[in-house]
Amino acid sequence: MSEGAAKKEDKPRKFQAIRGTRDLLPPETTLWNRVEQTAHSVFATFGFGEIRVPVFEPTELFARSIGLNTDVVSKEMYTFADHDLQGLDISCSQVIRMIDMFSSPGQAQYVVTALNHFLAAANQEIVRGNLSRTPEVVIAMQRLEEDMLFLSGVQATTPSAEFSYRTNEIRLTLEAMQWGIDVALRPEATASVCRAYIEHNMQQLPQPVKLYYMGPMFRRERPQKGRYRQFYQIGAEILGGTDSPAIDAEVIEMVMTFFDKLELQGVQLDINSIGCRDCRPKYVELLRAELLKVKDKLGPDSQRRIETNPLRVLDSKLESEQKIIEKLPHIADHLCNDCATHYAAVKRQLELRGVIYRENWRLVRGLDYYMRTTFEITAAGLGSQNAVCGGGRYDGLVELLGGPSIKGIGFAIGEDRLILSLQESGKLPAQQGRDVYIAWMGEKAHATAIRAAKDLRNAGFSVELPPVEQKFGKALGQADKLGARFALILGDNEVAEGLWTLKTLADGSQQKLTEPDLLDFLRKL
Ligand code: ATP
Ligand code: MG
Repeated sequence: MSEGAAKKEDKPRKFQAIRGTRDLLPPETTLWNRVEQTAHSVFATFGFGEIRVPVFEPTELFARSIGLNTDVVSKEMYTFADHDLQGLDISCSQVIRMIDMFSSPGQAQYVVTALNHFLAAANQEIVRGNLSRTPEVVIAMQRLEEDMLFLSGVQATTPSAEFSYRTNEIRLTLEAMQWGIDVALRPEATASVCRAYIEHNMQQLPQPVKLYYMGPMFRRERPQKGRYRQFYQIGAEILGGTDSPAIDAEVIEMVMTFFDKLELQGVQLDINSIGCRDCRPKYVELLRAELLKVKDKLGPDSQRRIETNPLRVLDSKLESEQKIIEKLPHIADHLCNDCATHYAAVKRQLELRGVIYRENWRLVRGLDYYMRTTFEITAAGLGSQNAVCGGGRYDGLVELLGGPSIKGIGFAIGEDRLILSLQESGKLPAQQGRDVYIAWMGEKAHATAIRAAKDLRNAGFSVELPPVEQKFGKALGQADKLGARFALILGDNEVAEGLWTLKTLADGSQQKLTEPDLLDFLRKL
């Protein structure tokens, strides 16, 4: 290796955040905090309590709720096998050890016992839910059962080649077996909230249960402005109780109030009803039939969706498809009586609340569990990724996840996009500078400065206390750079006199104050 190459190797690797993830830094995080604080307070006024659910869950939870044919589940989830099955590990290695130790047919019994023990342990973990019944696991277990049956019938006279062929098969099966549960980083949180509702028997609480959450979600999408692989959502769910249209309207009113408080610009609410289990399938069939007639005029994505998820075709942004889509049948004309009545009442309820909406018959949601009311909110300054909130009703989802048959509705706000839009419209919080920079010189002054810093901080002021002595000129320069409002100057004279010098950095004026007067003065600002 040349010297140059060696040097290159020695240089430690520089790491970068993974594509689609990013660091949120100050001062931007001040805005994130303000948004989150506003959510906490607005949602509390509507009677919502915060729930914090895990960042990963069994993959099956999302597959079952969001739906296999959705983009989220079919291609965007981060999944991995997680296993915490040490007992199973041990009994697996025990089988392999027996195979290594006993290689003659007369000793088959030892392998059988170990294998039997392993299969029993594996079955127990399946029952406990620690081992997923993936097709691979099911096939491997069947194969091992057959092998065990064979070995149980082995005689001392069985040819040893046959015996070792079988034991080798067992070893290969065991080595290839991946156990553990298939886990996914959450792509959204509604499924988790429903899981938690069931797990904690929340149907015993007064209904409906109103919960909200905020936190990171993960989807493997093509990163671009407003679209990340780790992004943040603020969402809320109303579970249980009735499906009264007033609930739909109130939850929408809550999001709009939240956006209003943040002074989000260009807010546009679109609503639609996508029917229920009775009327939607009929409409979907009609849509499919109509789409088949124009199939060759559609792009490949829409062509595929005719089979998998025809409603999603309505969502298409492809320019060449717009004219065709406009001519497709509208779901509003195919709602059953109950759904039509419900939708009309939701609109009336929104009007009573002064919520301005636009009906959008092409609004369908990307996740399978939605029914009846669906809505989406867009905001200014976001280009084509302009949806800041999506939501809708999902009666039946809790039941689908093994819980009681209850009603549900909710929404999720894309916090990253919300922040982007606020930034674009100049709604930035003022850069947070320090209130007081303490410029001290000398040992005695340092002791006083430490005490002053403690008192000022206790009183709620933000204080910068330099760790080492600086010349006053340099200290004042530093105070300026940090955007401090005041510099508190503490030198030998100040300490001796008990009169501290406070300099207002904006105009350079100075005043001398005793310690109690200083606190009084700052408090009154
Ligand atoms: P889009 O059509 O923009 O992909 P979606 O229908 O997939 O959105 P939902 O699953 O309804 O979105 O999530 C609700 C909100 O979360 C969206 O309106 C959006 O603001 C935000 N969101 C979704 N995916 C991302 C992402 N990858 N990056 C940033 N925000 C996202
Ligand atoms: Mg999406």
